[in-house]
Amino acid sequence: MSCHIDYQAPDDLLSDRIILVTGAGDGIGRAAAKGFASKGATVILLGRTLSKLEAVYDEIEAAGGPQPAIYPLNFEGASWPDYQNMADKLYETFGCLDGVLHNAGILGKITPLQSYNPQLWQEVMHVNFNGPVMMLQALIPLLQASQDASVVLTSSSVGRQGRAFWGAYACSKFALEGFSQVMSQELENISAVRVNTLNPGATRTQMRAVAYPGENPANLRTPEEILPTYYYLMGPDSRGFTGQQFDAQPKK
Ligand code: NDP
Repeated sequence: MSCHIDYQAPDDLLSDRIILVTGAGDGIGRAAAKGFASKGATVILLGRTLSKLEAVYDEIEAAGGPQPAIYPLNFEGASWPDYQNMADKLYETFGCLDGVLHNAGILGKITPLQSYNPQLWQEVMHVNFNGPVMMLQALIPLLQASQDASVVLTSSSVGRQGRAFWGAYACSKFALEGFSQVMSQELENISAVRVNTLNPGATRTQMRAVAYPGENPANLRTPEEILPTYYYLMGPDSRGFTGQQFDAQPKK
């Protein structure tokens, strides 16, 4: 059973926390990175398009947030040594991680299974699942070095209930849900690391516009409007919750 929490985040909720956000250059990840910084976090901006990450960096600085960091990485081409290297570099610079919002993802194609291109299927599974899993494996020691660490994996309604034509995207989100349960159980009781999944719900972004071309974006919540649950899960008030499924918007 998934749940939605109405949450009002205090201004200093995330002060002194170091939080990595994947897919921080656009859409929900961009809003979350800026939001976390506005609540006091030092944010590490990870993504594949440097110019977008630089724009978010500048916006955080202009708003007076703690100086962020940029970590350019493309999940498509990255392999295990890249993630080990990433963990080493983050350890040298920060010593620990208090949060990871894994938000990056691609849609692939909405099409019947029979016509799903196998290469595209692999790509979606790699970007949405295998790459992030390698990243999180490498980051476990940094998370364990924190007094209170939260991992949030971005799911989808089609990652909790299958839907025709959503192919690799739906399967990759189911896989993330499974990984969240495995990782949360392994780290429960032996560390202060909690791991949960979060379904943003229908949100006004480019990915949504591609998935639902007939929809009027004005009827959708903006990324900024769905942030309260992101704050709740990243901050200390969600301590004790692990291996759970959350929704950023109330179910209709
Ligand atoms: P966007 O397409 O707007 O943003 C996705 C982000 O992920 C972009 O910053 C993109 O980078 C980054 N990204 C994509 N591929 C890679 C890669 N190979 N390596 C590194 N970064 C990459 O999507 P949303 O903001 O809508 O979605 C965010 C998350 O929320 C996704 O996981 C999505 O599945 C999920 N979601 C969204 C919903 C919605 O209604 N919007 C509903 C349910 C789930 P770049 O900017 O360079 O392209």
